[in-house]
Amino acid sequence: MNYLVRGYLENDELPPFPSRERLEKKPVAYIECPQPIPCSPCLEACKYDAVKMDNINDPPELDYEKCNGCMSCIRVCPGLAIVIMRIKDGKGYLTLPYEFTPWLKKGDKVKLLNRKGEEVGEGKVVWALPPEKNDRTSLVRVEMDPDLLFEVRAVRKVEE
Ligand code: SF4
Ligand code: SF4
Repeated sequence: MNYLVRGYLENDELPPFPSRERLEKKPVAYIECPQPIPCSPCLEACKYDAVKMDNINDPPELDYEKCNGCMSCIRVCPGLAIVIMRIKDGKGYLTLPYEFTPWLKKGDKVKLLNRKGEEVGEGKVVWALPPEKNDRTSLVRVEMDPDLLFEVRAVRKVEE
């Protein structure tokens, strides 16, 4: 069964992950966009030549050494297929698109969900870019166990 039928990507269908050493240097994007479709906003947004795409139908490939985590690509991706990862002082930080209400704000506790929508832990919002301040995708950055950075792809607010 392929991911289009299954509805989510398995680990062996994902691009290689950046190393922990790379994540400790500076933020880096991670793109999960396997489908050959005519789409290239990520390529056009990247001023650092980090996104490679020979043909507009090719899935994008990311050069982790060229990427500096500037976030320009994440906000223009119509597929919500890009996240930004970082490890700092032993803590993991994941910046991801968030398009639900109620909007999240700094300090909110969230459940961490994997690609299947299963809960895998809890995290805390450390930064949020709400939709009223821009006309593009709203973003949220969540602090979490660094070992979960490759697993978590959505969050849900914990009601207190
Ligand atoms: S985060 Fe910035 S440098 Fe990295 S791929 Fe996206 S646009 Fe390029
Ligand atoms: S902008 Fe998003 S959906 Fe389009 S090719 Fe890039 S990663 Fe894929």
